[in-house]
Amino acid sequence: SDVGSQKERVVTEEEWLQKWEMGNIGFHKEQGHPLLQKYLDVLLNGRSGLRIFFPLCGKAVEMKWLADMGHSVVGVEVSELAVKEFFSEHSLPYCEEPVSEISGAKMFQSTSGNISLYCCSIYDLSSSIVGKFDGVWDRGALVAVNPRDRQRYASLMINLVEKNSSYLLATVSYDPNKHKGPPFYVPESEIKSLFG
Ligand code: SAH
Repeated sequence: SDVGSQKERVVTEEEWLQKWEMGNIGFHKEQGHPLLQKYLDVLLNGRSGLRIFFPLCGKAVEMKWLADMGHSVVGVEVSELAVKEFFSEHSLPYCEEPVSEISGAKMFQSTSGNISLYCCSIYDLSSSIVGKFDGVWDRGALVAVNPRDRQRYASLMINLVEKNSSYLLATVSYDPNKHKGPPFYVPESEIKSLFG
């Protein structure tokens, strides 16, 4: 169907920061996502101690779930408020340090060490900074990326995963003429051309 009306739309980082400041975060789900529960076996594929990446992580509670299962979680989020709310809402002590490779970026790490959240733009990351991942939970991430940046986002994600990784992607299907997004409508044909 016609995604023309969304193609040019741009949501700036500043607008995302404002959403967090205003508490305008209807995308955040306290209960966690039922689809992650449903497809957890696909993500883990019988493996333990995985490195799992949460692009555009917000304060997704699923990061805590997976860390509690013994995996190591890495997220990236442009809003420092979101990152701090994540740790405080789960009563997790953390420390913060600058990221030497990225000017202005900070990394917040749980004291236990298994949750590391980078506060910067995802486009600043590379596998030389964060390593490669065995699994990805992409919810509210590809669909939040500005349509013009999708190719760049997908290429980066492909670079950040190991060969035998699992990538769970949640999208939303709706008539893009009725809502300007985000979340944006990403047709299945486009997902195929982005990720192969
Ligand atoms: N995945 C989360 C949040 C979805 S909303 C969840 O499921 O709840 C999208 C998030 O991406 C917002 O928190 C926004 O602040 C963040 N964001 C937007 N652009 C970003 C970018 N370029 N780099 C990192 N984070 C970004």
